[in-house]
Amino acid sequence: MNSKDTRTQFLNFFKGKGHKIVPSAPMVIKDDPTLLFTNAGMNQFKEYFLGISQSKNTRVVDTQKCLRVSGKHNDLEEVGKDTYHHTMFEMLGNWSFGDYFKEEAITWAWELLTEVLKIDKESLYVSVFEGSDDADKLEKDHEAYALWKKIVPVDRIIMGNKKDNFWEMGDQGPCGPCSEIHVDIRSKEEKAKVSGASLVNQDHPQVVEIWNLVFMQYNRKANGSLESLPAKHVDTGMGFERLCMVLQGVQSNYDTDIFTPLIREIETITNSDYGKNEEVDIAIRVISDHIRAVSFSIADGQLPSNTGAGYVIRRILRRAVRYGFTFLNTKEPFMYRLVNVLTDSLGDAYPELKEQKQLIENVIKEEEFSFLKTLDQGLVLLDTIIANTQGKTIDGSKAFELYDTFGFPIDLTALILSEKGYELDEAGFDTAMQQQKNRSKSASVVSKQDWEILVDDSEQEFVGYDLLDVEVKITKYRKI
Ligand code: ATP
Ligand code: MG
Ligand code: MG
Ligand code: MG
Repeated sequence: MNSKDTRTQFLNFFKGKGHKIVPSAPMVIKDDPTLLFTNAGMNQFKEYFLGISQSKNTRVVDTQKCLRVSGKHNDLEEVGKDTYHHTMFEMLGNWSFGDYFKEEAITWAWELLTEVLKIDKESLYVSVFEGSDDADKLEKDHEAYALWKKIVPVDRIIMGNKKDNFWEMGDQGPCGPCSEIHVDIRSKEEKAKVSGASLVNQDHPQVVEIWNLVFMQYNRKANGSLESLPAKHVDTGMGFERLCMVLQGVQSNYDTDIFTPLIREIETITNSDYGKNEEVDIAIRVISDHIRAVSFSIADGQLPSNTGAGYVIRRILRRAVRYGFTFLNTKEPFMYRLVNVLTDSLGDAYPELKEQKQLIENVIKEEEFSFLKTLDQGLVLLDTIIANTQGKTIDGSKAFELYDTFGFPIDLTALILSEKGYELDEAGFDTAMQQQKNRSKSASVVSKQDWEILVDDSEQEFVGYDLLDVEVKITKYRKI
């Protein structure tokens, strides 16, 4: 089944169960200081769960564009290396706001997967919250267990701990146990060797989580204690690309019709072959993934820039350009040429891609162009730095120079150095950065009526390769 039909089938199945189909919320969030990007389907419904406002419909279904590159959910390091984590992905979800609860959520999920989509029941595992003996003293989710037991043999029901099977929105607010559905797509021979049950939640590329059913039944109060919620809610999230992988009988999200057109285009443009060499394959996967994140972001109105969400996007784009540059030998802008294919495959489901196509292409081309120039110059300088270094550790202040003069990102420097067998003196880099911040702080005091704002955009910059994380901008005011 192709991906378009899968999306439609999901939406229509729940429509048939009384759900209203609603559009995806934007992926780039404009009005929430705590979150730059939508990272789960539930984000747009937060206020309903918190009881701040009420939904017109108590049953809703949608597919939500999500981005997981910062904060609590940061999958960037996995992307391209594994075959089932993306930066941008679609999360299919059905929702009950104080309407149905566990019984319907579980029965319908099973019905959809096994009867409508015809996934082999024997390949499915489900997990249930085992309870906790910490301060919360939570009981095992007996209700969910009993419901699953009616439809799944007990040896395929896995008990899960708080980390995997208890969902919390934050330190306070709604929370509750969840049940996840995992699919084992290994061959018969492999399945005979080791039970799939032992591979659930083990980051096995062929025993993957596809759907998370969250049952919000508690509210965590400010003092940390839990109380039962008067109205209970269901929040589910299913990875669309992973579901398509299962339904299309392939072993990687990148082998589904969501990604193959992009991959074929990358092969053509860069004259490379997917599936022959691991480094090339990772680069191709990274590029096919990142072009989606960047294009969707621009379509949402978020252009690459030097601060906040814009900087996240710039970094994602540069990361892809760098992979192309190093492993596919692309010395000219090429990513913008993928937008056509992307728009062809996703433009119907997400019309904003079609509407903004020209802008997306222009912005990406321009960004690629200027970054490639930087890359060339920076690489030459980095080689000189390496040549003048005794030992295997590169001086942090030199890396800072590269960053400061050429806008050469520190993550890139670290990556290239590690590829060449060198290390970066990160502490030295941080010190140089701090000195720079102190200098710019005193330089940029803007007066506004009887207050002056201490403008410190550097607060918003990234803090490192492993932390593609943005600190929330702190604007400090001082009475004058
Ligand atoms: P995983 O354990 O695989 O990282 P998760 O438990 O973090 O997934 P949830 O927060 O439960 O994921 O999100 C709901 C569903 O969204 C998951 O069951 C999975 O199918 C899908 N999903 C989560 N993260 C990604 C991602 N980075 N790329 C693609 N799909 C994802
Ligand atoms: Mg995860
Ligand atoms: Mg998980
Ligand atoms: Mg999960």
